[in-house]
Order: sequence, then structure tokens, then C-alpha cells
Amino acid sequence: MTTSRPRSEQLYAEALQHIVGGVNSPSRSFKAVGGGAPVFMKRAQGAYFYDVDDNRYIDYLCAYGPIITGHAHPHITAAITRAAENGVLYGTPTELEITLARKLKAAIPSLDKVRFVNSGTEAVMTTIRVARAYTKRNKIIKFAGCYHGHSDLVLVAAGSGPSTLGIPDSAGIPTSIAHEVITVPFNDLDGLKQALERWGDDVAAVMVEPIVGNFGMVMPEPGFLEGLCAMTREAGALVIYDEVITGFRFHYGTTQTFGAFPDHAAIEPDLTALGKIIGGGLPIGAYGGRKEVMEQVAPLGPAYQAGTMAGNPASISSGIACLEVLEQPGVYERMDALAAKLANAIKDSADRHGVPLTVNRIRGSFSTHFCAHPVTNYDEAQDTDGEAFAQFFRLMLEQGICLAPSKYEAWFLTTAHTEADIDVTIEAADNALRQMAR
Ligand code: PMP
Repeated sequence: MTTSRPRSEQLYAEALQHIVGGVNSPSRSFKAVGGGAPVFMKRAQGAYFYDVDDNRYIDYLCAYGPIITGHAHPHITAAITRAAENGVLYGTPTELEITLARKLKAAIPSLDKVRFVNSGTEAVMTTIRVARAYTKRNKIIKFAGCYHGHSDLVLVAAGSGPSTLGIPDSAGIPTSIAHEVITVPFNDLDGLKQALERWGDDVAAVMVEPIVGNFGMVMPEPGFLEGLCAMTREAGALVIYDEVITGFRFHYGTTQTFGAFPDHAAIEPDLTALGKIIGGGLPIGAYGGRKEVMEQVAPLGPAYQAGTMAGNPASISSGIACLEVLEQPGVYERMDALAAKLANAIKDSADRHGVPLTVNRIRGSFSTHFCAHPVTNYDEAQDTDGEAFAQFFRLMLEQGICLAPSKYEAWFLTTAHTEADIDVTIEAADNALRQMAR
């Protein structure tokens, strides 16, 4: 099968006239994979996308993570429909919010109190404000390549090497703000130690994606999170886990759940940021943590955070329904098994065709890095063949397999993917890799 997409091209030309860059999030552009029109989708059902030219794709983009039950899952659709019929926005509290808060608390024991917001960006941004309010300190430490949304403080890249002050990663961020951020390589406890020795007295929080989802899927090395938490607390700073991707992605809970990852002690952060899956596909974010830290937040405390749309009944209903699907026995095991089959087959194909490929799989999701070395930090993820990825991406798209258009993004499985979808994808990947070997 080869897809042809004239209508997408037309719509892209039109979109460019009206929407900056033709897209409402830069990650949707095809800039990183050779440019041209992105695919305009018109419908999504289960594991499939249908584009405006009536091509069908098996979806592994999954909206960058939130879609885990497949598109338009009937249980979630029914919940959203019910919410719409009852009025989508009140500006008053609802019982639904308590139900979702209870569900999150039951699955994530470090949450004494939560607050719902509208995006992962907002959730992360507020955890930083709360940590600053609680510690009365200003600086934060983050890890290179971890993405925490587009708020000023976290859109800062490393200088050279560990223990350097940040430089802004975007125009429009004052250097003075970037100087409040210190960036350290992921999996580098020595780098963190140096940063804390130098700036520890002014560090409000260390923020981490406990399992990285933003430069491929990368596990923390055994001992990394334990060391990070111990050092951070010794310095009098708070630990913030950004579980916007990892929350409910690998199992019913988060990275911090006891026994979830046998190589890692379950360490409870002071604050957790959530998003994506907990909204079942509608806009959402949440943050929460220790009672005395969360009580910094208005109306109880001096740290202000608000939202017209926060906790709206549509997003909350969708989130509750999504978690109800994920609570069913065997759901995660099935996604893990399908992802294992797919990831292993892609790696075998690459080996057979002599294409250097590292596959990092964590349960039901994985990343494909065109390189011969392991990928354990951002430098190693950058040092991969972007052109090879772009070629692979396009060869897969031509065969009706939709991946994220970036070498740093993961493949996500859903409860809707079937064994037959996996077999089709394995064959497509084998074709693509064979062509790339030539
Ligand atoms: N944190 C992480 C780990 C993320 O992956 C993302 C988005 N990809 C965000 C925060 C920001 O979330 P949102 O796009 O909902 O603002």
C-alpha cells in the first residue's frame, strides 16, 4: 500500500495562511522529518486514523501519550456525551472532581491533596511555584532533554556539561529567568551532586521525568532516583516528579508506585505533576503532593493558581472513564506483550538488514534510535541518525503506519491495538528497513 495525500497538501497550504506554521503545536509539523505537509486526519477509531484522503493508518502516535484505550472508546465517549448533555462548564465545584481526585490518590500514595488544571504545562509550572513558596528559595534543577511543558522556567537547556546555569531554549525568555535553572545530565548523580554543592542553598526543587519519555523512552539507572531523592532532601529542596507521560502509561499508577519497577525502590516525591492519560483525551493536568506543601496553594496559602476551565466536568468525566477502563484486569499485560513482540521484531529486522538501531522498550511503549550505542541520556539520544529516522518515518507512513514525526518521540500501544495490527506493522517495518539498507 502507498498512501497518496493531495487533500492534506491542499489543507496544509490553506492552514499556512491562517495558523502560524500551519499547526497548533510545533511537534505536529514535519520539519524534523524532511518538511512538507503533515497528514490531516479527519477521524480516529480504536487503533486507526483516517485522513482527509481516506487513507487508513495504524496509530502509534496516540496524541503523544494521552490515548491509551484507543480512539473513541465507547465507555469514554459515553461519559463525555453525558457530560456534554449536562452542561460542560459550571465554574462551581462538582462531585466528579472528588471522584477523580480519589482515584488518583488511591493509585498514587504520595498525593495527600490534588488540584486539577488544564494541561501538563500548567501542572508543572505550578509545582515549581508551590515548591518555591514552600522552601522560600528560587532555583530549580532539571535534567537535560527532559521536557516539562512550555513555561519559561523549564524551557531552558543546559550550558556545556553539568553544573552550568541554563540558557533559554526559546526567544522571549529573559536570561534572568534562565539563570534560575540548572541543568544536569539524566542518570548523572555526580553532576547533580556538584550542582547541589554549588547552588544547594538556593534550590527549591529538583524536577525529573522519573522515566524519560521525551528523548525516547529511557529508564533511570538503578540507584539514580534513590540518590536524586536523598541528595535533594539533604539540600532542603523538594523532589518533583513529572509523571505527565508516565502516569498510568506502564501500569495502573506511576513510577513511584511500590513494586511497579522491581529495580527501583518506590520513592515518593514531594510533588507530582500529571496530565495526558488522566483526562482520557480531553485537556487536563493535575498536581499534588504532601499536605503541608499543597497547603501553600490558594485559597489556603500564599501561592496563587487558578483556572476558568480547571476541573471542567467534560475532562473530569473523560478521565474517570479512562481510568475505569484501565482498572480492568489484564489491560496492561496485553499492551506489554504486543509492544514486546513489535519492538523485538523491529530490532531483529534492523539487525538482519544491517541498520544500526537501538530500541528502548518500557512495557507498552518504546523508542527507536538509529544508532549502534545505548541511549541512556540526552547526549546519546541526540547522537543518533536523524536522517535515517526521517526515512524510516516516511516509509512507514507510506505503508499506513503513523509514528510521531521526531526521532525523540515514543511509540505508544493502546488497548485497541490487535495482534493483526502488530503483524502488519512488523511487516511494514521490515520493508522499510530493507529499503534503508540498500
Ligand atoms: N511534562 C511532560 C513529561 C510532557 O511530556 C509534556 C508534554 N509532552 C508536558 C509536561 C506538557 O504537557 P502539555 O502538553 O499537556 O502542556
